[in-house]
Amino acid sequence: MSLPFRFEVEKPLSQYSTFGIGGPARFFTEANTIEEMQALLSYCHQHQLPFLVIGKGSNCLFDDRGFDGLVILNKISFFQPDWPVISVGAGYSFSLLGVQTARNGWSGLEFASGIPGSVGGAVFMNAGASGSETADALIEVSFVNAEGQLEVLSKTQLEFSYRFSSFHHKKGAIVAAKFLVSPCPEARKKQLSIVEYRTRTQPYGEKSAGCVFRNPPEQSAGALIQQAGLKGLSVGGAEVSSKHANFIVNSGVASAHSILELAEVVKQTVKEKTGVELELEIRCIPYR
Ligand SMILES: Cc1cc2nc3c(=O)[nH]c(=O)nc-3n(C[C@H](O)[C@H](O)[C@H](O)COP(=O)(O)OP(=O)(O)OC[C@H]3O[C@@H](n4cnc5c(N)ncnc54)[C@H](O)[C@@H]3O)c2cc1C
Repeated sequence: MSLPFRFEVEKPLSQYSTFGIGGPARFFTEANTIEEMQALLSYCHQHQLPFLVIGKGSNCLFDDRGFDGLVILNKISFFQPDWPVISVGAGYSFSLLGVQTARNGWSGLEFASGIPGSVGGAVFMNAGASGSETADALIEVSFVNAEGQLEVLSKTQLEFSYRFSSFHHKKGAIVAAKFLVSPCPEARKKQLSIVEYRTRTQPYGEKSAGCVFRNPPEQSAGALIQQAGLKGLSVGGAEVSSKHANFIVNSGVASAHSILELAEVVKQTVKEKTGVELELEIRCIPYR
């Protein structure tokens, strides 16, 4: 297989993960425009090269062996407001989008501020907080399919639910999104109080991927883990945060294996003590 010059080889994925964990990508590159993403996915299709599109790596646990294919870092980051509609590249910071809309007196994305992902990652995960989720303000998504063709999908053509979107079953890349916001003089105040709450209750500044487990219906995974007495429990450098029990933090030496080992202990203990079966929210990216 002839390699386009811009592919890097054996690139450590730990640099692209907020956990700071992950072995090397066999090949690695960035996409800065929609056209570049189309060319890359079309190349992968022609050469049957497995690919993985990532944003800020804030919800991924990469394998200790890395990824046996091409990792594409999405850096498509335009921001085009035509209030109340905003068109934004999928590589744009979701947190910044929340701050910018609120600062300009628009409501609907205040919850995004402090979520350290990209717009594409937020759409993929239907990221949410403070009673709102990404799909609420979404109108449309631009998506490059696995053959490299661009599709424009309206929200009604897509499915969203708690930390789920149709993109979990669609191979390709989210390249842009359109959101609709509404005027609200209180938006900035609301956004600031969301950030204040986050920094007070979550282990910001530590290496994590946010909440490890999904909240079971009508329950909080964090509260269940705390009740089970698991705060501070550690395995091989992975530790249940003492600030927020649904966060596992990497003290600096954890591997993907130790994160998963600790998550399994948490899952089993919560099941024994409360009868509730926790499910992982973080995306575990297999080597192959
Ligand atoms: C401190 C902290 C706090 C957090 N708080 C929250 C919170 O309040 N609410 C919440 O929902 N989440 C939270 N998270 C988790 C995370 O930030 C979100 O899930 C975020 O939306 C992930 O975006 P990302 O760009 O980092 O995605 P990544 O981690 O890069 O990728 C996640 C998944 O999306 C896929 N993906 C990413 N971009 C694309 C794309 N352009 N096209 C196709 N697939 C793509 C990846 O392949 C992967 O499967 C938190 C994380 C941290 C570290």
